[in-house]
Amino acid sequence: MKLYNTLTRQKEDFKPLEENKVKMYVCGPTVYDFIHIGNARPYVVFDTIRRYFEYKGYKVEYAQNFTDVDDKIINRANEEGVEPTVIADRYIKEALKDAKALNVKEPTYAPRVTQEIKEIIEMIQTLIEQKNAYEVDGTVFFDTKSFKQYGKLSGKKLDELEIGSRIKLDDAKKNETDFVLWKPKKEGEIAWHSPWGEGRPGWHIECSVMAKKYLGEEIDIHAGGEDLIFPHHENEIAQSECCNHKPFARYWLHNGFINIDNEKMSKSKGNFFTVRDIAKEVPYDVIRFFILCGHYRAPINFSREAMEASKKSLDRIKNCVNKLNHLIANATIDNMTEEEKNLDIFKNINSYKNTFEEEMDNDFNTSNAITCIFEIVRLINSAINEKCSKEFLQNLLNELTSLCNVLGILYKIEDEEQSVNVEEIEELIAKRQEAKKNKDYKLADEIRDSLKAKGIILKDTSAGVVWSKE
Ligand code: AMP
Ligand code: ZN
Repeated sequence: MKLYNTLTRQKEDFKPLEENKVKMYVCGPTVYDFIHIGNARPYVVFDTIRRYFEYKGYKVEYAQNFTDVDDKIINRANEEGVEPTVIADRYIKEALKDAKALNVKEPTYAPRVTQEIKEIIEMIQTLIEQKNAYEVDGTVFFDTKSFKQYGKLSGKKLDELEIGSRIKLDDAKKNETDFVLWKPKKEGEIAWHSPWGEGRPGWHIECSVMAKKYLGEEIDIHAGGEDLIFPHHENEIAQSECCNHKPFARYWLHNGFINIDNEKMSKSKGNFFTVRDIAKEVPYDVIRFFILCGHYRAPINFSREAMEASKKSLDRIKNCVNKLNHLIANATIDNMTEEEKNLDIFKNINSYKNTFEEEMDNDFNTSNAITCIFEIVRLINSAINEKCSKEFLQNLLNELTSLCNVLGILYKIEDEEQSVNVEEIEELIAKRQEAKKNKDYKLADEIRDSLKAKGIILKDTSAGVVWSKE
């Protein structure tokens, strides 16, 4: 199995630290809003890589953090006049809903920064003791010059970086490239006690701490979007390797960016899409499929047309599965016939299955792996009809679904919107009663219809409103 390692800039054979085990850390989102289509990419691609390792018999320990304290979260909290934890809790819940709907397996560990402050302080203390970090008036900086290998991931050289930073931003720093491990509290901001006064951690330290706590000082794979190579991952390496005196991650994997209509996605341009927005137009499984149609390192372009094309393609696989299920349910012969046994189809499927594995073994080429699945669909479609035996059909179905499951592209989406939440229903009923009292029959009808869309039927009785599921 070969994977492209950003650290060495080449494809390498995968050799885990422990036999048949993969320790994998993926940088998670900052939770101040719904996750956007760009954030969905690392979710989906690294979940698929995890699934492939599992398919190959590895036991995967998978950690993905939530950055739940940060300027953007604090700003949003101030705008809404609530505590930052309210914002973080809300968007962690929403991110989990999206991840589930995208068929992303739950990580083994999903730590949150605010619950790891003790360990963060401990690592910073170690770095200070070892002279890799220093404090100036309540701010702790990492001394980049203390780590000779600084820049090894991004290929940047310290001297060039210093010349490159034209504006001297912070006089307190020894070197322009030094970065913050701990920052002092600003008025009205969330803060924790520390040996350097009240404050909160800088961004990079959290991932070094969480990777160590949950996976160990050395891990197999560290992953995230390519924007994280510098400075985030470069800084993580500096912190972890100085603290632990060991190489941190063996393989660094980075996904390419998702652009919108060939432009960089940004809020100011107005071309910013949350997964939730897109899921109103196409089902979540199509979003997952769309992401996997490209190689994870290549940039991909999001557009309505691309989504529609993905939907059509995925439907071809789903239609084949539906047809198989229908024929299985109506088959009149149970066991494989001699004629079926003599067909080449299983041999041919097997050959595509081997190609599928070769493609996945070659730096997880999901795009070519999906082509193999389409070839199998084509073979199956041309071989099946009402006369086929149940066993034959079932075997074909198993072959097809087992490969689809490696990519996680065939699944039933549990629609959270459609699921019954008793509290919400009661609230809506009360709102409808209120509307009726105010003679706002339009609103009352709208509420009744919206509940009906979720399969909830309201009945006005003499004892009040009762509801039941359709
Ligand atoms: P953030 O919440 O910005 O820290 O991002 C969470 C994850 O999403 C990181 O791994 C980012 O690299 C990744 N990411 C952010 N924007 C995009 C994008 N447009 N395309 C692909 N990945 C992205
Ligand atoms: Zn990180």
